[in-house]
Amino acid sequence: MNVVSQDEFSLIFEYFQKPGLTARQINDDVIHGIGDDCAVLRTHDEEHLVLTTDTLIEGRHFPVGADAKEIGQRSLRVNLSDLAAMGAEPRCFQLALSLPKADPRWLKAFSQGLYAVAREFSCMLVGGDTTRGPLTISITAIGAVPSGSAVVRSGGTEGDKIFVTGTLGSAIAGLHTLQAEDRVAVLALDDCLRQAFWRPQPRLKEGRLLRKVASAMIDVSDGLLADLGHIAKASGLGAEIYLSQLPIATRVLEKFGEEQARQWALSGGDDYELCFAVPENKLKALNTLQQTNSLCITEIGKLLPGSGVHCLDSTGQDVLVKHPGYRHF
Ligand code: ADP
Ligand code: MG
Repeated sequence: MNVVSQDEFSLIFEYFQKPGLTARQINDDVIHGIGDDCAVLRTHDEEHLVLTTDTLIEGRHFPVGADAKEIGQRSLRVNLSDLAAMGAEPRCFQLALSLPKADPRWLKAFSQGLYAVAREFSCMLVGGDTTRGPLTISITAIGAVPSGSAVVRSGGTEGDKIFVTGTLGSAIAGLHTLQAEDRVAVLALDDCLRQAFWRPQPRLKEGRLLRKVASAMIDVSDGLLADLGHIAKASGLGAEIYLSQLPIATRVLEKFGEEQARQWALSGGDDYELCFAVPENKLKALNTLQQTNSLCITEIGKLLPGSGVHCLDSTGQDVLVKHPGYRHF
């Protein structure tokens, strides 16, 4: 019998999403279930609860032997980024920790990193689970939005303009620079790229502001092409990206040249910027939001009929991109 390897998204669909009852058949307080950055639950009339889980494994999501304080920081930051992608405000989180050994020095540094982020974003640790095993950090973050205002991936409409916050490519540039045998030391050489990898900024303020104007939103964890692909697919549309408008991080351009930097901006993950769609009739409101809040956002493309994400060069020609984004399987 041939064993066909499935990517993580078809695996999730096949075994966890498809066989389940639709959210409303189980509990009509589940407003959005599997398939977005977070699930959304009705808790009371004015507010909905927003939940997300992300797992970080040593050797897969961060280098083996990395600084425990940085691991603590990053673990919570990437989870808060999923709350940002729904336009939610963080409330609390749970921590499931698997440790190869109980090393007090490691635990002290890890918890310092974790709590620094928890304090910065007023998000309290309220529970979890601790076991012995390969180093794995799994966090469930819980947030809230005013009822009905969570921004899902499926809300995009034809012609919506696509934007992205901040710049792209730094975090993956940091990670890819590392030599297999001495990844941590090399990462430490370039502080700017190091920070981008270890301390991604969850765009919570931007997410909150954008829920008034965005029709669809996602955080860029697997790479822009892959994540915009999720918005397009969930919205039943295709998308085009204008390569000449991509906000590639200057440091990455300087250090690695245009071609490599663009490839990372499109396909590298770990940026944790927000990618969002805005309909024509909300562009003015977006402009006002941008001016009054000094939002750093760039228009990069458009949602169109069809499927898939197409990249266009400055002459409007289709450009083939080799590696569309990170996949676990
Ligand atoms: P993100 O990159 O935003 O964290 P993922 O790509 O990890 O999202 O997951 C896609 C969707 O599938 C999310 O809605 C997530 O909650 C859901 N999902 C992932 N793994 C499982 C699982 N084992 N069981 C149920 N739902 C899952
Ligand atoms: Mg996400």
